Amino acid sequence: MNTPYTPSDGIISALKRRLTRFAARKPIDCAQDRFVVSFSFDDFPRSAATTGAKILENYGWRGTYYASAGFENTSNHLGDLFTPQDISALIARGHEIGCHTENHIDCAINAPVVIEREIRRNQKYLRTLGAPACPASFAFPYGEVSPRAKDLLGQHYANLRGVRAGINRRYADAHQLNAVPIEGTLEDRDTALSFVDGLKSGPGWLIFYTHDVRDTPSQWGCTPELLNAVCAAVKEAGCDVQTVGDAFSSLTEVKQAA
Ligand SMILES: [Zn+2]
Repeated sequence: MNTPYTPSDGIISALKRRLTRFAARKPIDCAQDRFVVSFSFDDFPRSAATTGAKILENYGWRGTYYASAGFENTSNHLGDLFTPQDISALIARGHEIGCHTENHIDCAINAPVVIEREIRRNQKYLRTLGAPACPASFAFPYGEVSPRAKDLLGQHYANLRGVRAGINRRYADAHQLNAVPIEGTLEDRDTALSFVDGLKSGPGWLIFYTHDVRDTPSQWGCTPELLNAVCAAVKEAGCDVQTVGDAFSSLTEVKQAA
């Protein structure tokens, strides 16, 4: 069992994280008379590609899978990670594959040259499995971000997703999109469902993320029952469900047409 990496904490790191939210921004207005929800899976475990995808597909929806090539055919605290066949199968069924660096690196502390190499190699790998030459979507591993990384990665991807919990609304940042975790069992549903309720109060874009989808999930994953309960609430609320890339495109298109 691998020990999960923990990004640095403490007052300085907390302050840097806070300041980074206001730096290197790419403004996007997500409050355009629509209630948009995206579901995403990070790293990603096989259970997300099988159980997770099946749950979304039962609702007629597709998800975004942020892959790190280095995880191919490995196992860790999230269970078995994806196989190449999982990626090709997801693409064939209309899911989106996003980038998550090749080796799941902390983008806040790595040099630009390292980040560039990581994304170039990851994209090359994903391309051999049928992903587009230039993926639209990127998620920061561990949610770790710096102004320099936002600038750099923003040159390669249309949208960058973080892990700060919140709904993206009028003054959102496409270089650090908010996202809400779906974690735990059905008993933990209140957190995720409170954001579905929150979305109903006004137009916006709610992005969910999780990792493994198993009966006994890791602390970063959820049970199939919990994911299904969140989907049921989203359906009940009548939201538009799109992949992160499609939601980003539709929100920026509407803006251009306006
Ligand atoms: Zn990750």
